[in-house]
Amino acid sequence: MRADLLQRAAARQQARAEAGLLRRLRSVTATTAPWIVLDGRRLLSFASNDYLGLAGHAQVREALCSAAARWGVGATAAHLLGGHRAPHAELEAALAAWTGRERALLFATGYMANLGVLDALLQSGDVCVQDKLNHASLLDGARLCGAELRRYPHGDVDAAARQLAACPHAAALLASDGVFSMDGDVAPLARLAALAQQQNATLLIDDAHGLGVRGAQGAGSVAQAGLDARQVPILMATLGKALGTQGAFVAGDAVLIDALTQFARAHVYSTAPPPALAAATLAALRLAQQGEHLRARLQARIAQLRSGAAALGLHLLPSDTPIQPLWLGSAVTAQDWSSALEARGFHVPAIRPPTVAQGQARLRIALSAAHGESDVERLLDALGALRQHHAQPAPDAGA
Ligand SMILES: *Cc1c(COP(=O)(O)O)cnc(C)c1O
Repeated sequence: MRADLLQRAAARQQARAEAGLLRRLRSVTATTAPWIVLDGRRLLSFASNDYLGLAGHAQVREALCSAAARWGVGATAAHLLGGHRAPHAELEAALAAWTGRERALLFATGYMANLGVLDALLQSGDVCVQDKLNHASLLDGARLCGAELRRYPHGDVDAAARQLAACPHAAALLASDGVFSMDGDVAPLARLAALAQQQNATLLIDDAHGLGVRGAQGAGSVAQAGLDARQVPILMATLGKALGTQGAFVAGDAVLIDALTQFARAHVYSTAPPPALAAATLAALRLAQQGEHLRARLQARIAQLRSGAAALGLHLLPSDTPIQPLWLGSAVTAQDWSSALEARGFHVPAIRPPTVAQGQARLRIALSAAHGESDVERLLDALGALRQHHAQPAPDAGA
């Protein structure tokens, strides 16, 4: 007999609940970074990707409102069918200039940008070599386009080299996150670029968590690694992280962008994002470009958290980015720590399977320039108090 799809989905959900891994959607009813009100309680949040504190910035809000007054809310059509408005074009030019590329193309979300690029460039018979910890959208994009997906162990460039060498005649895309979203470490970008060159593969870097945060003027991880558009021909980044708005872009030379305009279905068949959002993002981009003081403040918080955690004997995964994971191993332990922190007034979500591998659950502590020194101090105090009751498991159990 035919399986009932909804019954099967309910059974999967039941299994997830029994494993203690059910996710729960909760509503935030107010925000003033870095504070949120969650289930009626005011919590100090260490969960946001608003690394520079721009999501609520007065100039960004003002840009959104005044552009909405001029352009309305919706773009009313896809980019190719009249939805592409002056603020989109202006933002694309500014993103290209910022990242040192010829052109840039906007997408509604980062998820769609990655699906769009992979679907536009790859076809069956090709190979897509990816870091095992790449963002889900890169993995999903590879599945969608029908290319052979090969995943190498995290950060293992030699393994990537072997995978590319094993199929010397297939057209190949090598893809990696710039900064890994749940680990906070940075990809070996220079070695990946050298490998791509040596193997005639095309390199794509997803710099969702590096843009605005790393490199001179916040131009990102690729700029920080000293790599240019020839070495990293496909640069993707999102606007919903350090820029504090929403959406994503792909930057590269005219050949790439023209091809995406024609063949990236996620771009062609989707309504253009609101023009006012593009205007707000442009304001955020200017603030991020000139945001050395914000990056300095963020770096000070990162250093403060790491040295404080070390003094408490707590193990953070190696990271010099705003993503500072406290490794806990089991999903139950991670959830216990998260709940105990919430009881003390902090929002630090547990990251559990399947977002991370079995046995790799953690607290993902995300820092922001919106955090003051006293905010991090309070978190450290709470972590210290917690440590008295719950030992952190030995990190070498697989971390
Ligand atoms: C957040 C993220 C995305 C997805 O971007 P959205 O705009 O949130 O859809 C893609 N890649 C990485 C590495 C991310 O962290």
